Amino acid sequence: NKKSIIIGSGIAGLAAAIRLRNKGFEVNVFEANSYPGGKLSEIIIQGYRFDAGPSLFTLPDQVEELFHISGKDPKAHFDYIRLPVACHYFWEDGTQIKAFGDTKKFAAEVESKLGEPASYVFESLQKSAFIYDHLAPLFMHKSLHRFGTWANKDAIKCYFKLGKLGIFSTMNKANEKQFSNPKMVQLFNRYATYNGSNPYETPATLNIIPHLEFNIGAFFPKKGMHDITLSLYKLAVNLGVKFHFDSKVEEVIVRDKKAIGVIVSGNSHFADVIINNMDMVNAYKTILKKEKQPNRLLDQPKSSSALIFYWGIKKVFPELDLHNILFSENYKEEFDHIFNKKSIYQDPTVYINITSVNKPDDAPEGCMNWFTMINVPNNQGQDWDRLIQEARKSIIQKVNRILKTDIENLLEVEEILEPRTIESKTSSANGALYGNSSNNKYAAFLRHANFSSEIKNLYFCGGSVHPGGGIPLCLLSAKIMTDMIKG
Ligand code: FAD
Repeated sequence: NKKSIIIGSGIAGLAAAIRLRNKGFEVNVFEANSYPGGKLSEIIIQGYRFDAGPSLFTLPDQVEELFHISGKDPKAHFDYIRLPVACHYFWEDGTQIKAFGDTKKFAAEVESKLGEPASYVFESLQKSAFIYDHLAPLFMHKSLHRFGTWANKDAIKCYFKLGKLGIFSTMNKANEKQFSNPKMVQLFNRYATYNGSNPYETPATLNIIPHLEFNIGAFFPKKGMHDITLSLYKLAVNLGVKFHFDSKVEEVIVRDKKAIGVIVSGNSHFADVIINNMDMVNAYKTILKKEKQPNRLLDQPKSSSALIFYWGIKKVFPELDLHNILFSENYKEEFDHIFNKKSIYQDPTVYINITSVNKPDDAPEGCMNWFTMINVPNNQGQDWDRLIQEARKSIIQKVNRILKTDIENLLEVEEILEPRTIESKTSSANGALYGNSSNNKYAAFLRHANFSSEIKNLYFCGGSVHPGGGIPLCLLSAKIMTDMIKG
């Protein structure tokens, strides 16, 4: 059997392990942490369980496919539901909108509460589907760095529709044109944050994202997000993948421009192919530091990061759903702070994810587990201790104003994740959540390829390479990459 080594057991590393094993490779995964999953992990504190990182689950078929190719029934190992409400939105003036999974219901909701014509919603979601149908086959399922990608029928279809794919406008401009009510513009601008970008700069092409959430659906794994990691880890182990935890790779061994192995704790391990799932910026700084550096790609601006308070709350708020957003009064100012001033706006949009709504055993009886998050700039050496304390105050005041409560008195557990700890726990450059940002129309072409053009037998997957960050894209990166490797 051919041998493979995977560096990192993030979601893409796990998917790569399963795919390579199915191709007949022997697979050894070296992971720096003591647990699998990277950003997709969990924390448990005093009877409260929290999904530590990702909370929104789209394109579940990408997870299911890994069971199918392994000859297993996904439903027997990994179960999930489609959410009847994708998100519950709150504004300071008391307006509340539920983004129902049923688009007709959602359109009726915004028509009755905001006076936004239902037809504008349908039209917007059709445009979103159009972008998806044209771009997904090209940008999500194929390498952009192979000639064949640009010379087939999917690509040719796109060349003729460039004007309609949103490349020449920004997300905000397109949404201002589409909707009459500023609250709808804000709601749809929020999708830029799904890959850590700025709606006032990112091309309107990113209006592809609402298609995922509304037309295909927002989902929730019945055992929580961490079950994506656990079920894939178990599948990999079951297939015979060998995991080595607390095993930080120190160097990729390269001889005659060929990757032949890795060094872990001073010991060499050899294989026919080496796959790196670690963030590319830090990989080139550490395990590939002797190799030629693709500086232009590595210097691209990074996505935003996050500040999260994991709060155990001694009360049940029946008005809250699984996903809740308390919107900022000035969205433009908020993004200007995140991407230009590299600071935190004093009225941030607060996202509260509460898995105990769907999975009651995630919190003690009569309590809720609040994953309370705001988008923040990536780490540029800011005075985080001060910024975090200020942001905590702003968040508490906002929650108190909108939910008419005194949240500080209800807190019994608190843990914090922030850009510095995101970086130290998963090696993400600047603590960015999604690798490079997508704030310009060339971003898709300025992510690292899924292979090395300098070093043979060296491949890449994960949020910092093509096609980008977020669970579905990371899973696709593993697919694109393993498709290139001959069994
Ligand atoms: P990572 O999770 O980055 O893991 C890389 C792994 O490599 C780590 O386990 C690390 O320990 C290991 N490693 C690094 N260096 C070495 C080394 N030298 N040797 C061995 N191992 C090493 N996505 C969504 O789809 N929906 C969401 O709602 C969402 N929300 C998010 C919220 C937060 C707070 C965060 C942090 C992320 C969120 N994301 C979301 C993004 C998503 O989590 C990531 O895009 C995805 O999990 C990244 O997976 P990855 O395969 O790139 O690996």
